[in-house]
Formats: sequence, C-alpha cells, structure tokens
Amino acid sequence: MAENKGLKMFCYQCSQTVGGTGCTVKGVCGKEPTVARLQDNVLLATRGMSAYLYHARELGYSDPEIDAFLERVFYATFTNVNFDAESLVQMAVEAGEMNIRTMRLLKKAHIETYGEPQPTQVRTGTMKGKGIIVTGHGLKALGELLKQTEGTGINIYTHSELLPAHGYPALKKYKHLVGNLGKAWWDQKKLFSQYPVAILGTSNCVLIPSDNYRDRMFTTGPARLPNVTHIDGYDYTSVVEKAKSLPELPDENGDVVLTTGFSKSVVLSLADKIKSLVEAGKIRHFFLVGGCDAPLRKSASYYRQFVEKLPKDTIILTLACGKFRFNDLDLGDIDGIPRLIDLGQCNDSIVAVEIAQALAELFDVSVNELPLTLVLSWMEQKAVAILWSLFALGIKGIYIGPILPAWVNDDILKVLQDKWDLHLIGEPEDDIKRILKGV
Ligand code: SF4
Ligand code: SF4
Repeated sequence: MAENKGLKMFCYQCSQTVGGTGCTVKGVCGKEPTVARLQDNVLLATRGMSAYLYHARELGYSDPEIDAFLERVFYATFTNVNFDAESLVQMAVEAGEMNIRTMRLLKKAHIETYGEPQPTQVRTGTMKGKGIIVTGHGLKALGELLKQTEGTGINIYTHSELLPAHGYPALKKYKHLVGNLGKAWWDQKKLFSQYPVAILGTSNCVLIPSDNYRDRMFTTGPARLPNVTHIDGYDYTSVVEKAKSLPELPDENGDVVLTTGFSKSVVLSLADKIKSLVEAGKIRHFFLVGGCDAPLRKSASYYRQFVEKLPKDTIILTLACGKFRFNDLDLGDIDGIPRLIDLGQCNDSIVAVEIAQALAELFDVSVNELPLTLVLSWMEQKAVAILWSLFALGIKGIYIGPILPAWVNDDILKVLQDKWDLHLIGEPEDDIKRILKGV
C-alpha cells in the first residue's frame, strides 16, 4: 500500500497560518503533519457518527454521552490543545466505540418505530401512475411521505440507500410503496432525468441537480441543493402537488427483483442451520462485501468481480450502496440459505457487527477466528466512522478499497497495518485466493 503523496497536511484554522493561506508542511504552531491528519481523521469519523445521531434524534432518540464525546473531539482538534499523535489514535478508537453506541441507538430507533425488517422482494420497474422518488437514508421522511400520499394514487419509489426501507413492517404496509429505481447515489442525474416524477432528497448522498429536473426536486432534513425547494419539517404537500402536475409513468418491469430486509433476528433464526452447514463443509467462508460505493473505475470492476468469482460454498453478507455493484446477480443458495444476504443501509452496519459477534459465540471462537472476511468500499465519513468501529472491536485483516483514504500517510498506515492488519484491495482473484488460503 502506498500513502497519498499530495500535501503533507493542510490547516488554516488560526491566524498564524503560513502566508495567511495555510500550513502545508508543518504548523507554525509546531503541529506535525501526522497530528494534523489524525485530527482530520477523528473529525471525519465523528462527522459520520453525527449522521447516525441525526437520524436517531429525528425519531426521538438521543444519548448525552455521545454528545459529550463529540464535544471532546471538537475541542481536541482546536488550535493549541492536542499535539499528541498517540492520544489522537486512541481518540479515533474511542470514536469507533462511540459510533457503535450511536449505531445501536439508531437501530433501536428504527426497530421501535417501524418494526424489525423482514426479507422482502422489491420490484425495480415502474407502475402505471404518477410517482415520487425518494433518495437518501431518511426513514422518517419516507414514512411521513407515505402517510401523506396514501390514497392519492401517487406511487412512491425508493432510490439507492432507501431500498432497505421496503423491509420494515410499518413502511412495507403501504401498498403504494411500489419499488426501487436506480442503483448507487451517483446515478441520480441520469435516473432523475429519465423519470418525469417528483423527487425528494432526504439526506446524503444528493447530487447538485441538472436543470432538467431541478424544478421537480425537493430536499428535506440535512440535505440542501442550490435553487431547489427545501422543506423544513415533514409537511410534503408541495412535493405531492408537484407529483400531481407531472405525467404518469407506464407499467414496466425492471430487469431484476431485489431482496432486502435480512435483520439480525432473521439471520440468527438460521444460526443452527448455518452451524450444521459449516460443520458439514457446505459453507466454507463468510464475506461481508459492502460499504459506500464510489464512481471510480476500481469500484466498477473489483466488487462485482470479487462476488462473481467467489466459490459457491461461500455466503456474502452485504449492506450500504456498495451492494448495487452486484445485488442483481443470482447467486443461489446453500441448502436454503441465500448466498447473498442484504442487511440494509450503511446505517445498519451494527447488524453486521452483531451477527459476526453472534456467529463467534455460536462457534465458540473470537470474531477474528471466524471464517469471515470483511471487504469494504469506502466513500465518505460514515465509512470512516464504521472502519474505526471495526478497529475498536479488534477486527483484523479487513480489505479496504477502492483507494487508501487520503488522510493516511506512511506513519498512520504503519499503525493500521501493525495493529489491525489492514489490506488495500488488489485483484479479485488474488485477494480471494489469499483470503481462502488464510495467508
Ligand atoms: S493551528 Fe497550527 S497548523 Fe493550524 S493554521 Fe494555526 S499554526 Fe498552522
Ligand atoms: S452508503 Fe455511503 S455513499 Fe452510499 S448513499 Fe449511503 S452515505 Fe452515500
């Protein structure tokens, strides 16, 4: 793995900054580049946490300990407070622990509000009638929109990370939640231009819209876009009125039917069967392949090929929008256990962690001794938070791609490799061979 060879650091947070523009080699205050990068890293991780926290608070759930930790992080990155690299690595591990606590809070909020997800088949085509596409991660916004559109004849479609919404009992009960359109977040311009319907962006990842759909796009919650109507609160009357003014979509089947909604309870109800299949040699290895998708060439080829080339005695757990690289593949099953199991959004990463811990208990080994490898894709700050959560749990041997995070320099890389045996993805066949041989 090679470190990023760009700027050594970049800090312009105080008036001493070099030439009034930025410290890029070493701080005038004495801040070393590795310290600056570790401060950036912990800020990235806590930004990721704040997204989970936001959605939990939307549903009425909060935790003062998490709030207090955020204060500590922000203060530690303030000018002339913390110049100690080791303590900033420790703080990143604590951020990982706090992020687990935050993800648990959000999962509890989702389940107590909408029920625990159930495996659900989701159409990918359109149904005759007017429509609204909802993108982002906001279950609360989607739930409110579903309530407000019931009986209006408007069909609601999810896009990207809202696919798992179809598995929640209190959302799937709405008959006009009719399907999922598109793939990962970055296909928005093409997709939203293609379907002449109203669009609601509920969170990241939204793209600055093309002019041909800007007037039928709306944002809500944390999302904002230039010259796009923003809705504070949850009254979506203007989205509904816009949808009514637009043409109907035709009845058209999609290329695939997707299955989502594998909750922790659903997977663990299969635990005894999974154990006997492992013991009988019918399941050789579990992979968690997922994370945030990025429109980079390496993502386009690696993750799909990796999943396609996995031997048939392996199970693939997945989550987040990285799954759209391969969730159209028919991977079949192993004695009734589906080979591809969609655990949900990136916001559901805690489900993967808890399943791994439950499997470790089932086989009476540590998580690192399980026949389980994590092959992750990262794009933004929630993925950084999750990576530190996995490190905080002591999970080793993770493969990460499509590129090494740019905040990682040689010093930080050495720590990540020495302590957690982090690998950058290579070629799919080579990585599979290496993982399955245990080298
Ligand atoms: S805090 Fe230090 S590194 Fe940052 S701008 Fe000020 S002098 Fe430069
Ligand atoms: S999984 Fe990550 S990249 Fe994908 S939509 Fe969610 S936050 Fe964005």
